[in-house]
Amino acid sequence: MKDILVEKLREDRDLSDSQLKALIESDEHDAALMKAADEVRRAHYGDRVYLRGLIEISSYCKNNCLYCGLRAGNRNAERYRLSEEQILSCCEEGYELGYRTFVLQGGEDPYFTDEMICEIVRQIKKRYPDCAVTLSLGEKPRESYEKYHEAGADRYLLRHETADAEHYAKLHPGDMSLENRKRCLYDLKEIGFQVGSGFMVGSPYQTTENLIADLRFLQRLQPDMIGIGPYITHKDTPFKDQQGGSLELSLRMLSILRLMFPYALLPSTTALGTIDPMGRELGLKAGGNVVMPNLSPTDVREKYAIYDNKICTGEESAQCRRCLEMRIESAGYRAVTDRGDVKRG
Ligand code: SAH
Repeated sequence: MKDILVEKLREDRDLSDSQLKALIESDEHDAALMKAADEVRRAHYGDRVYLRGLIEISSYCKNNCLYCGLRAGNRNAERYRLSEEQILSCCEEGYELGYRTFVLQGGEDPYFTDEMICEIVRQIKKRYPDCAVTLSLGEKPRESYEKYHEAGADRYLLRHETADAEHYAKLHPGDMSLENRKRCLYDLKEIGFQVGSGFMVGSPYQTTENLIADLRFLQRLQPDMIGIGPYITHKDTPFKDQQGGSLELSLRMLSILRLMFPYALLPSTTALGTIDPMGRELGLKAGGNVVMPNLSPTDVREKYAIYDNKICTGEESAQCRRCLEMRIESAGYRAVTDRGDVKRG
């Protein structure tokens, strides 16, 4: 028996709000949803899973997002920042492991001026012209994004976190706004970056309507990558007593995204792997086609603690690479290391 809702979503790449609500709120479509998502991912991407080397360049942050362990107000957080030299040596190690995309992520750390970021990007592009450089450094003025692009950065990841302004205000301090987050995303697109956005699943106060708003926003933005993962509690945040997002709902949302955005790059995130030992494998089976192995120096890994119990903080980069490759194969896919630019269609 075909699942009518799932087939309609696969055909139209869209559903009405009430149909989406039915899909999101029940587990009865899950088997059909996952199967369809895997078929669509295979039709567009075969069994390929793209590896992106992730370098966490700073745990300093001027923002105070209520869910994040790196928030400025967290006195218990251990802070670090990598030097240009350390970042370049992570890239060198990554290049030898076969990675052709480097993702530089960090808290919003004013220590890194635009000029410093541009110089790091230029150095990476000079040494590894065949590689893509992705930045994920938060909200900046348009002029800063323009400079990064000019310096050679190819992609920018900035999750919108939630597309509902009221919900956004419950997750962020008063000096941050959904409006500015969206402005950043549209600026990035206009400047010519390949853009990644996304949201947390099961963040405090999130409703089904919020999740539908997230999907609608992504339909307008049409990002190249969509990163989602379960919200996970961090003990030193105002949300320390809040529940985390579930594996089930995270996988369901991934499959819905695969059917709505067949071309998209969808990471199977570290957060998924943190809430379940098989989370990343399940994420791939639910439609994911990207994983981001950690390339940060091992002695700083624990300090990039955006949530509790984050995995992959102990291993060397080479071990991380082998472990992920094994997991990808065991799930029935194949790890590839080329740049993997998005193919729309
Ligand atoms: N400062 C950068 C990078 C933030 S870390 C930026 O603003 O984009 C990357 C992502 O981790 C965030 O976008 C958020 O969606 C996610 N994240 C933060 N805290 C989290 C938590 N407690 N649980 C799950 N995901 C979290």
